[in-house]
Amino acid sequence: MTPSSDKYFCARIIERRDISADLWVIRVDPGGEYSFVPGQYSTLGVVTPEKHYERAYSIVSAPQEKLLEFFVELVPQGDVTPRLYPYQVGDEFTLRKVAKGRFTLDSTSGRTNHLLLATVTGVAPYVSFVRSLHRQWKEAKFKGEHKLFLLDGASRSWELGYRKELEGFAAGVPWLSYVPTVSRPWEDNYWKGETGRVDDLVRKYADSWGLTPGNTSVYLCGHPSMIENTKGILKRRGWEKAAVKEEAFFIPGKEVVAAHN
Ligand SMILES: Cc1cc2nc3c(=O)[nH]c(=O)nc-3n(C[C@H](O)[C@H](O)[C@H](O)COP(=O)(O)OP(=O)(O)OC[C@H]3O[C@@H](n4cnc5c(N)ncnc54)[C@H](O)[C@@H]3O)c2cc1C
Repeated sequence: MTPSSDKYFCARIIERRDISADLWVIRVDPGGEYSFVPGQYSTLGVVTPEKHYERAYSIVSAPQEKLLEFFVELVPQGDVTPRLYPYQVGDEFTLRKVAKGRFTLDSTSGRTNHLLLATVTGVAPYVSFVRSLHRQWKEAKFKGEHKLFLLDGASRSWELGYRKELEGFAAGVPWLSYVPTVSRPWEDNYWKGETGRVDDLVRKYADSWGLTPGNTSVYLCGHPSMIENTKGILKRRGWEKAAVKEEAFFIPGKEVVAAHN
């Protein structure tokens, strides 16, 4: 089948970086004028003779970048990722022309702290926030009036695909605090940093950073069990629903096809 050109761009891979055996980053020429707000997602698709399979992927890049970037995890039993995994530089897939999603930085609530919690590929929208704010910071359009506190979790340190970049940003600006954490340190002998799951560390870091329901919006992105556990913790700590945004990457046992009209 051939997807219609009024709805889809033909996106082409320009760069590929393998992070681990089942995680990779692609940088993509979208194939047309593509606009989005940091935190939104794209819908990528692979075409087979029988079906056009599509899934949502959070955008890692910032709007000022020419290439779109995605951080993808292989789901061996899935429809899309096993087909996308072999794609190399020059290979093409479909990209819906319109970016979607409301998982964007809330700068209007009056809460100027933003606690960003991620598991593995869930760091994607936060990298977009940081790259975008960093550009504005350099141009003196953002003065650090919003502060980001990012807890980035994975089983092992080599799955933290953006650790070096985020550590670099955090070392250079006063508005970003970054803590990577590893939940299986026994499989990662050289890891000297924080250990434990993101949800186990939320209380500790919220306290040490002085984050309260009154001054902080919280963002949860990635694995649904991290999101559910953390929502319970936040609720017991007094965070209201309106101050918590979530982007669950899948529902266990279900394919999630992003809604598009
Ligand atoms: C808004 C949004 C943004 C997303 N952003 C990203 C992103 O940046 N990077 C990324 O890699 N994925 C992201 N996802 C998930 C992505 O859309 C796909 O669901 C995922 O890549 C699996 O697709 P698939 O077709 O290979 O598997 P599917 O055919 O969709 O799933 C097969 C089975 O595996 C389960 N499953 C799906 N994903 C996982 C998983 N990670 N771990 C365990 N079981 C799973 C499903 O529930 C289903 O039962 C996002 C999802 C949403 C809704």
